[in-house]
Amino acid sequence: MPAAYTCDATPDRGGRRCVARFFRALLEAPRMERLWAPWRMAYVGSARDDRGCIFCDATTGDPHERLLLGTTAHSLIMLNRFPYQNGHVMIAPRRHTADLPALPAPEHTDLAETLRRALASLGEALRPEGFNLGMNLGACAGAGVLDHVHWHIVPRWNGDTNFMPVLTDIRVIPEYLQDTRKRLLPHFGDLQA
Ligand SMILES: [Zn+2]
Repeated sequence: MPAAYTCDATPDRGGRRCVARFFRALLEAPRMERLWAPWRMAYVGSARDDRGCIFCDATTGDPHERLLLGTTAHSLIMLNRFPYQNGHVMIAPRRHTADLPALPAPEHTDLAETLRRALASLGEALRPEGFNLGMNLGACAGAGVLDHVHWHIVPRWNGDTNFMPVLTDIRVIPEYLQDTRKRLLPHFGDLQA
């Protein structure tokens, strides 16, 4: 669950108010059943058979199949196969590591710059009204991939689903992943896909 901090692009909303709303939503949101999403279930099923690292594998093979959006010298951007929202991307160092503080400075600088560029590209492509950004480090923090650090970026729209889809199990994905990739790719053109 990406929730390290919440960024709201709407200028008339103060951070304090957003944080208060975030926790109110957490307390008030009922525990909901996951919506039926056939493509998502297929990915969940296939993931059980795949013991490799999705980030290391992303730069090998077919970028279309790997949902890769682009690479830089030290980082990569890919779509999340289990998205919390349309346009949910992940940014990871190309180095296979779980240790973010130990990442060499040039690689961390590249990662941060790639995060910034991805935000700009997603903003341009999808025109979201806000974003959730987060990094989960360790199993107790909810990391799905434990040994390769990665950022999540989740675009948000006012009223996009029900209460805080990053916190509940409701996920409504209006586009299939490959369609989303095709739509995003032109906006990541300055990266080497
Ligand atoms: Zn890896």
